[in-house]
Amino acid sequence: MTKRQQQIFTRRSLSIVRNLNERLKKLGYSERVSIGLVRDALGDAIGKQCPYCEETITPRTMSLDHPTPLSRGGSPAMLQVCCLKSNREKGCLTAAEFTKFLEDVSTYSKEAQREIHRKMRAGGAFFRLQARLRKVA
Ligand SMILES: [Zn+2]
Repeated sequence: MTKRQQQIFTRRSLSIVRNLNERLKKLGYSERVSIGLVRDALGDAIGKQCPYCEETITPRTMSLDHPTPLSRGGSPAMLQVCCLKSNREKGCLTAAEFTKFLEDVSTYSKEAQREIHRKMRAGGAFFRLQARLRKVA
């Protein structure tokens, strides 16, 4: 990693662990994950391929994924690293469900694939906005 990438890694990994622990608290989990665990997992994944889309993971695109989503009872420490784009699209699907979805979508035309992936990612933004609005109300 270059010095710049190292800075991004340090900043983003801290924000990732804070967001994760905030989510754990909100979801009623008593466990918290440590910055050390998260940085080890993220650091190991830099330069490797995203398990879903095979794009190379960088400090800018790294993201923590729970193969069994926390919202569906997944264990906080059972995590893997994938790219941000795939993680947004995966939402609260399990790794197996999302992989099946990707396989199914890959049978569509390139044009249809682009449209479906775009809608899936935008849907995630829609649900995040709804959650934020609920918090304000
Ligand atoms: Zn990906």
